[in-house]
Amino acid sequence: MTSLKKIGIIGAGQMGAGIAQVAAVAGYEVLLSDVEQSRADKGFGGVEKRLGRLVDNGKLQRKDSEAALGRIAPVSGLEALGECDLVIEAATENEKVKHAIFKELCATLSPGALLASNTSSISITRLASQTDRPDKFVGIHFMNPVPVMKLVEVIRGIATASETFQTARDFAETLGKTVTVAEDYPAFIVNRILLPMINEAIFTLYEGVGTVEAIDTAMKLGANHPMGPLELADFIGLDTCLSIMQVLYEGLADSKYRPCPLLVKYVEAGWLGRKTGRGFYDYSGEKPVPTR
Ligand code: NAD
Repeated sequence: MTSLKKIGIIGAGQMGAGIAQVAAVAGYEVLLSDVEQSRADKGFGGVEKRLGRLVDNGKLQRKDSEAALGRIAPVSGLEALGECDLVIEAATENEKVKHAIFKELCATLSPGALLASNTSSISITRLASQTDRPDKFVGIHFMNPVPVMKLVEVIRGIATASETFQTARDFAETLGKTVTVAEDYPAFIVNRILLPMINEAIFTLYEGVGTVEAIDTAMKLGANHPMGPLELADFIGLDTCLSIMQVLYEGLADSKYRPCPLLVKYVEAGWLGRKTGRGFYDYSGEKPVPTR
């Protein structure tokens, strides 16, 4: 089994910063990288805030929080990741962006290092084929918010070696996560089921069957979901939701996966959900206010 000490994370957004947090708390050295130092610092600031809250609530000792923060280095660019044992890519859900990252990264990454993608939907086999090490490439799909959600899907590409797969599985378990294994088909298991439900909720809104509030209340109280589908879409990020629907639509060539035009319109407007302050809800005030 490959022993892992130093973990590189590419993309310091909501997922990358969350992965950095759980990895550092579990004792790994973490390099958290983004395109600009300010974005990496922002991701690190989020970790600081969340760990501070855990300390305040008595769920984490101050010394453990300080030690974990001391193990995370926010950096810009990919050069600093050369010595990592495992690099997890958690950048924007766009295949071109991810390919460009792997191309640049492989030029400096040590030959024995493992590569993983946190992609929600893109083919692990296809991403791996663009690198110099398809046998050392695996999907490690965390759920949002990473520190809270128990599940990690581990996805084997067609070329993934058993040792790589087992190391990824063991790594996720050392973070206290439960692993489920998914085959490499569009959107894997969780998002194959979840995203069409969210897309259908947006169609329900688009066709005027119900308001934002009616749809979310219906699914919370009628199906016992902890969050309504539109609230959840805002939480995931509407750009990410749209990308996943496009991957399902193209990858499975079935019209039942076509993205709702209203979802497309919101993304075109830059209304991406919580991260931009507006999506199906407006987050500028104290409480989220439905926009339709
Ligand atoms: P996000 O928009 O919050 O963060 C993406 C980050 O990637 C940004 O900080 C951006 O600056 C950075 N980035 C873009 N191009 C980069 C590059 N070339 N090099 C380095 N950094 C770059 O997005 P997110 O929600 O954190 O999603 C990231 C990945 O995780 C996506 O693949 C997404 O599908 C996946 N994912 C998302 C969720 C979710 O619920 N949001 C859940 C599971 C997996």
